[in-house]
Amino acid sequence: MAVTINDFNVKEKMQWCPGCGNFGLIGALKGALADLEKNLHEVVIVSGIGCSGKSPHYVNTYGFEGLHGRPVPVASGIKMANRRLTVIAEGGDGDGYQEGVQHFIHVMRRNHDITYLVHDNQIYGLTTGQASSTTLMGTRTKTTPFGNIEIPFNPILTAIDGGATYVARGFAGDVVHLKELIKGAIQHKGFSLVDIFQPCVTFNKVNTYDWFRERVYKLEEANHNPADKKAAREKAEEDIASDYNMVPVGLFYKEERVPYEEQLPQVKDKTLVDKELDVDLKKAYEEFL
Ligand code: SF4
Ligand code: MG
Repeated sequence: MAVTINDFNVKEKMQWCPGCGNFGLIGALKGALADLEKNLHEVVIVSGIGCSGKSPHYVNTYGFEGLHGRPVPVASGIKMANRRLTVIAEGGDGDGYQEGVQHFIHVMRRNHDITYLVHDNQIYGLTTGQASSTTLMGTRTKTTPFGNIEIPFNPILTAIDGGATYVARGFAGDVVHLKELIKGAIQHKGFSLVDIFQPCVTFNKVNTYDWFRERVYKLEEANHNPADKKAAREKAEEDIASDYNMVPVGLFYKEERVPYEEQLPQVKDKTLVDKELDVDLKKAYEEFL
């Protein structure tokens, strides 16, 4: 029997603040998994730490909540061990673009076949409102009481230039559109980034639902060609270049490249879990008993 979106629900009550963008985001993810007819046991969701870190608890699949900034290396390890799984990493802008930014860089150039969903609320939410690497200049936060003086990290431009083969941005306030972007990311063979504007209604009073609704437009309605890398780079800088009057969402860039797992000599012909164990672990066990 085909799965439905309700099959991905859990009994546990979601602990996010009422109105948080994470509700729309996780609804879009569950809808994408149901539309793609994924069975519950075929999916693993891996998170780091932060409000986004709760995600594996709230979707009825396999899950792993790891260390701060480290969902991506765990997810790529899982994919190498069992290529049949659909592996989704989730983190926040603090988790993924600050603490774990080194993993973000290297996983892209290797093109591991995983999907990375970043809950980008331009603030540290769980720790109650400090500036993160995507906080806009001038924003007053607990750590920037006179206004943020750092230019924000650009995840889309970094991903296009860093070797990601599917680069998209969605908005948690448009669940139907976001669901389609996540479906495309899961279906894509290679590393997929979906950076997601996810309003933090409690600690980010600048980047609100209304702020985004006044500014976002869809790339597919603007005749953008995701195969055109130069155009993708220009679109990735349009928000800052237009002083945030024009903020594109949608698929910026896509290319086909053989994923890491399908090239690594040790596993390219047979995924690790299907291999016979040809080492004797008895001695190692005895040593530690
Ligand atoms: Fe959502 Fe912000 Fe509350 Fe975290 S602190 S649950 S991001 S509204
Ligand atoms: Mg954040």
